[in-house]
Amino acid sequence: MTEATQTPPPVKPSSTNDHGPGHGNGSEVDHREQQLFQSLDRDGVGSIRRSEILSVIKRMGLQLEDARLQETLIALHRYVEDEPITYADFSNIVRPNILLVERVLQGHTVIPDFEDFCGDIGQIYTETRKNQTGKVADYIPQLGRVAPDQYGVALCTIDGQRYSVGDTKVDFSIQSTTKPINYCLALEEHGEDLVHKHVGREPSGRGFNDLTLDSHGRPHNPMINAGAIMCCSLVRPKLDLADRFDFVMDSWAALAGGQRPRFNNSVYLSERGTADRNFALGYFMRENKAFPEGTNLVETLEFYFQCCSIEMNAEIMSVVAATLANGGVCPTTGKQIFSLRTVQNCLSLMYSCGMYDFSGEFAFSIGLPAKSGVAGALMIVVPNVMGICTWAPRLDKHGNSVRGVEFCKRLVNRFNFHNYDNLTGLSQKKDPRRSQLRAKSDEVMSFIWAVSKGDITALQQYLARGADINEADYDGRAPLHLAAAEGHERVVEFLLNQGAELNPRDRWNGTPLEDAYRGNHKSVISLLEKRGAVR
Ligand code: GLN
Repeated sequence: MTEATQTPPPVKPSSTNDHGPGHGNGSEVDHREQQLFQSLDRDGVGSIRRSEILSVIKRMGLQLEDARLQETLIALHRYVEDEPITYADFSNIVRPNILLVERVLQGHTVIPDFEDFCGDIGQIYTETRKNQTGKVADYIPQLGRVAPDQYGVALCTIDGQRYSVGDTKVDFSIQSTTKPINYCLALEEHGEDLVHKHVGREPSGRGFNDLTLDSHGRPHNPMINAGAIMCCSLVRPKLDLADRFDFVMDSWAALAGGQRPRFNNSVYLSERGTADRNFALGYFMRENKAFPEGTNLVETLEFYFQCCSIEMNAEIMSVVAATLANGGVCPTTGKQIFSLRTVQNCLSLMYSCGMYDFSGEFAFSIGLPAKSGVAGALMIVVPNVMGICTWAPRLDKHGNSVRGVEFCKRLVNRFNFHNYDNLTGLSQKKDPRRSQLRAKSDEVMSFIWAVSKGDITALQQYLARGADINEADYDGRAPLHLAAAEGHERVVEFLLNQGAELNPRDRWNGTPLEDAYRGNHKSVISLLEKRGAVR
């Protein structure tokens, strides 16, 4: 797991805008910042109010606790309600988080018309709420006692836009939704080859706790009980049980942008007390020599029951799903939690095996990776768009949440989210997404802009998403040129540490060191020269 570098909060800005227009992209940069300001200063009086910025942020579904906006929000709250904010102030306030601020103010998030989209989701919620069929799981009293008609839907986009409706703050035990995450943890630790020596990747076509192994004597896949028990044996096997559990809890918290899950001890005790089938699966696998050498079976089963007994609510789980939708980078913190490859593998198996023996039908008609749990949770991933969690405890005969499945049906009826909806441009369905082509070209410009503004948090996210650190603009100016020209010592250092080329040449044959001299940025000059830069 990589840590994001945090920029310190800015001091209350002075009334002068002290950053010069810089070489190369300077005027472009200022122009963009001015446009943002003008978009808020509708009457053209030359100043705006705090509330005007905050209301756009809220309308776009971003939360005021969003870590990626902290510097801007802190700076903003140094102004009292009606205090005028001039262009110079504005520019200082937004600079540390400029990329996200720009995306929000320009409506360039993945779901640009977020209010409209949420209206649709709210409607689907109301329609599915009427469905009272199905029964809560009652194999343990702790699940049997849950009020059956509770229902919540929460979502989080890859830009961190959040929406929730209904009982989204009520805790439930995560049960089988622990399976994809433990699979990811095993992959991160041991790699694909080793993990799949011990667990297959084929749908079993059987119930989730069926006593069956594949032709190699392995559990069929990580999304059913046998495979999940196997994955548990692969998560930090050398640590003691307490530390292994802490590791899993910490991983969930990181996936959820820092929101900590909880643990339900009575669910755990009940799970453990009524676990004949899971024990049977464990012994059956041991008999078939399926486990890695040295596995302590009872400890592994205990670990599995504990993982099933983790508790969280729909809001937290929607961020976890969004991290998967975003290729392993948590949208609300920008931290890379899992590698792209790990997430790809996990989504593939959620797609083919995530809904027990309804998985084939679900992949066919819904076309999205999802994972259900017996307490009524459903974690749904719309890749590159958002994560959704529905929670409604009544289950169908396969063990999937009735309302959750119906929610998905209505979701893909209304929106073109089915995996193969992209085959035809003729779909009658709504597309709430921003054009991908447009988004890509903006991305290149924005990366360069983030460099010139010193927005390290955003840079980190761009790199995590695979942006090229040396990608130059039409003048051959690489990110390092701009950072040096603007005198952003921390950015220069960050870029170099991330492997940026030291002496790229722009079309005037200039190097970054040249830029630093031109701007007389002493600290940048000495930093570059220490690393061996030339003019
Ligand atoms: N704790 C449950 C079990 O192992 C989890 C299964 C589920 O959610 N389907 O039986």
